[in-house]
Amino acid sequence: MTGGETGIIYGSPVHRSRGFQGHRSVSKHDGSTKDGWYSYICGHCNTKVSGAVVCGYYESEEPPIKWLLCPNCGNGSVLAKDGNVYPGVPFGPNIEGLPEDVLEAYKEARNCMTVNAFTSCELICRKILMHVAVEKGAKEGDSFANYLSYLEEQGFVTPPMKGWVDLIRRHGNKATHSLESPDKKRAESTLMFTAELLRLIYEMEHISKQYTEET
Ligand SMILES: [Zn+2]
Repeated sequence: MTGGETGIIYGSPVHRSRGFQGHRSVSKHDGSTKDGWYSYICGHCNTKVSGAVVCGYYESEEPPIKWLLCPNCGNGSVLAKDGNVYPGVPFGPNIEGLPEDVLEAYKEARNCMTVNAFTSCELICRKILMHVAVEKGAKEGDSFANYLSYLEEQGFVTPPMKGWVDLIRRHGNKATHSLESPDKKRAESTLMFTAELLRLIYEMEHISKQYTEET
């Protein structure tokens, strides 16, 4: 790509006007000045930290790029020209007590949101309905509508939950069958409904066991 063009990375416009201008633009920091520290939420350990700026790339008329080290977990991140820190923070809450394959799928859905992969997020959320139903005894290879009915019959989805749990399925269907991409807000809501479902089915029982097993 030549000077002055605009590329698209993760859905954000990135101005690539000059490219690499040589090591003279790279500065190392020793922590003795304000430039040596940068406040961000670490995407590895999900903690707000004052991170060490290991080095920065500073070009006039360009946003700086900073290589960051987290003092909490010791892992590295990059503040990119678009002002975002990569890896980003997974969207949505941590949910405890999930079976392994449900946990993997839920993590993947959360990670999709960090790279604006909204369609993928909704597809995985719908797939989580299958994981949950099968884990609770439904047979594999059924339709998503039947999985939902199964969860209702077994009492995991109660009448007041049915409307929003069905939205997970319907948004997943739209993401599959329609060319129009879901917007961020819809994908966020799909993921939050999924989180709430997992919380009610798995996390509440998991937390309550800590108390009921004691008595
Ligand atoms: Zn960290």
